Amino acid sequence: MQNVMYRILFAVSATIIPMVLSYWIKQRYRNKLLKLQSQQREFDNSYYHCMFWTTDNNKCKEHMFNNIECRNNCSVTYLQTLLKCLSSSKSSIAMCMYHLTLKQVADELIKAQRRGITVRIITDYITSRIEHSKMKLLKNTHGFDVRTPPCNDSFMHHKYCLIDAEDADLQKLFLGSLNLTLQGCVANFEFVVITNNPHMIREYSKEFNVLWNTFEESNVLRL
Ligand SMILES: [Zn+2]
Repeated sequence: MQNVMYRILFAVSATIIPMVLSYWIKQRYRNKLLKLQSQQREFDNSYYHCMFWTTDNNKCKEHMFNNIECRNNCSVTYLQTLLKCLSSSKSSIAMCMYHLTLKQVADELIKAQRRGITVRIITDYITSRIEHSKMKLLKNTHGFDVRTPPCNDSFMHHKYCLIDAEDADLQKLFLGSLNLTLQGCVANFEFVVITNNPHMIREYSKEFNVLWNTFEESNVLRL
């Protein structure tokens, strides 16, 4: 009787265990394949656009004042491209900017806020207190949540902006060496990359949120 039981047990084990193992391996393979296909799709759909400010842009100061584009890589054209990123926002803007003095950018952020967009700004402790900085206007006049490091020991030197980072279809990021200042737009060698690369956006969002939460206490400081 015991032998019969063992035989039945062996027969069942010999049938079921390979079936379960085979199912498990197939599922793992299928999940890996789906993950790879999803990463490939993200890669296929991702874009980037590079802009470089050179000595040619030194001639664009007047163009910036008069809003006249002289050529494709005019400082006005470049600025319009960045402003379009901001105006395209549907739910959120998270800007990490060492220095911001351009009225055009401040105006676009104010318009976004009035459209109901959640705008979060991180900036530098010292530059935010400089006379031409737009941070005081944004924070004190328009009630933006602007955060800085709690003291001036280290510069908050980042220059990037996330737009609709939580939406896989709309998300975009611009980052580079450019401060959003007239000096940056007409007098320096600078670069900015605009991209919707989801891996980069994940990383930059993560870092933004870490800084945002770290700087929470400093929010009580008046700019
Ligand atoms: Zn120009």
